[in-house]
Amino acid sequence: MNKTIFERIAAKEIPANLVYEDEHVVAFRDLHPQAPTHILIVPRKPIPRIAEATPADHALIGHLLLKAAEVAKQVGLTNGYRLVINNGRDGGESVPHFHCHILGGRPMTWPPG
Ligand code: AMP
Repeated sequence: MNKTIFERIAAKEIPANLVYEDEHVVAFRDLHPQAPTHILIVPRKPIPRIAEATPADHALIGHLLLKAAEVAKQVGLTNGYRLVINNGRDGGESVPHFHCHILGGRPMTWPPG
């Protein structure tokens, strides 16, 4: 299977503006930011989307969400932020490698588009 673009970023085969990494996850700035701060946090393991995560991924997904909160704090999103996980076509997913968006730096609206 071809590597996803996010696997290649995690492996440093293609450049990205990294803000955090550990043995399980990598966080980097989104190429097309939708808010003043827009960061993606992805597992190194190429899980295509949350619908395809398994019980074996339980700890990894928990770790990723806790690190998302740490990254948000690290980059100074003290007024709050939004975490977004797009799943499948109707969810607006465009990269088939599980990722959580961290969006902040402006008030978010509801309902989302
Ligand atoms: P989604 O629509 O939820 O699948 O989100 C994919 C996100 O990946 C979009 O916000 C894109 O702007 C972002 N993206 C795609 N390629 C790159 C890249 N090479 N570096 C950083 N962000 C990217």
